[in-house]
Amino acid sequence: MESFDGLREKVLELKREKNALVLAHYYVPLEVQDVADAVCDSFAMAQKAAKAENGLIVICGVRFMGESAKILSPDKTVLLPSPDAGCPMADMVTPEDVLRLRAEHPKAKVMCYVNSSAAVKAVSDVCCTSSSALRIAKGLECDEIIFVPDKHLGSYVAERVPEKKFWLHDGFCPTHHRITEADVLRAKGAHPDAVFAVHPECGEDVVKHGDLVGSTAEILDFARRTPAGEILIGTESEIVERLRRELPEKRIYGVGSSFVCPNMKKVTLQALYECLRDEKYKVELPEDELRAARESLDKMVNS
Ligand code: SF4
Repeated sequence: MESFDGLREKVLELKREKNALVLAHYYVPLEVQDVADAVCDSFAMAQKAAKAENGLIVICGVRFMGESAKILSPDKTVLLPSPDAGCPMADMVTPEDVLRLRAEHPKAKVMCYVNSSAAVKAVSDVCCTSSSALRIAKGLECDEIIFVPDKHLGSYVAERVPEKKFWLHDGFCPTHHRITEADVLRAKGAHPDAVFAVHPECGEDVVKHGDLVGSTAEILDFARRTPAGEILIGTESEIVERLRRELPEKRIYGVGSSFVCPNMKKVTLQALYECLRDEKYKVELPEDELRAARESLDKMVNS
């Protein structure tokens, strides 16, 4: 079996040889992040892919991330190292669900979190990220909004945009949903001086304890800038590991030990190596779906 260092070298060599751009999400294992050209949130990966000159893009993340990159870079080859790495939250809503909700609430516009399939984006009016959701909801010209798929992010936004009526789909991220208020209170009790940075994909009773509520990139930024010496992190465990390595002068704690996205952990160094070696697995999308999904993403960027 290939040694870890040997595998790492082969990945770096293949990247150079094929002039591939490797982009990794913050939740994939650190050894994969370490060989990537950039590590970022899902939409930032798609934007970086689109701006790059490379014709070969590898998205180290779950399926909807590969789809978003393909939507913004239709003429490039976009590869996913682990095609079976899906996002359970994205899979909780289908285009048929969106069409049914539209029929039930004909005056509402559909706002869809980027953590959704290309097919769902294609039947939505506008997309949003966790950091742009509030701004997009406020600016959308309508009195009613159907928000899919994340009920937690949706209710976080709805509470802060009281002038609009929200219809929430009942999807959720199993990883963030798993964390309870009791977990937070236990962690705060153990580390009373720590500030708490939390992702809005967590439930309301968890989010209400946050000193910072924000996307993964915003949580990282907050941890780097805060003068606090102890930080409690309310998102996926790889962020805790990354910050411990990056900020050795601070004490970084996770909330509970079960804050792991199993799908993101399927993106291993071995899978990345095989992906680059065999140029598999290509993300392909039907032309009409790709065009319609692109409109929803463009509206997010331009609004
Ligand atoms: S952390 Fe949650 S939203 Fe992100 S990929 Fe995993 S299941 Fe999906």
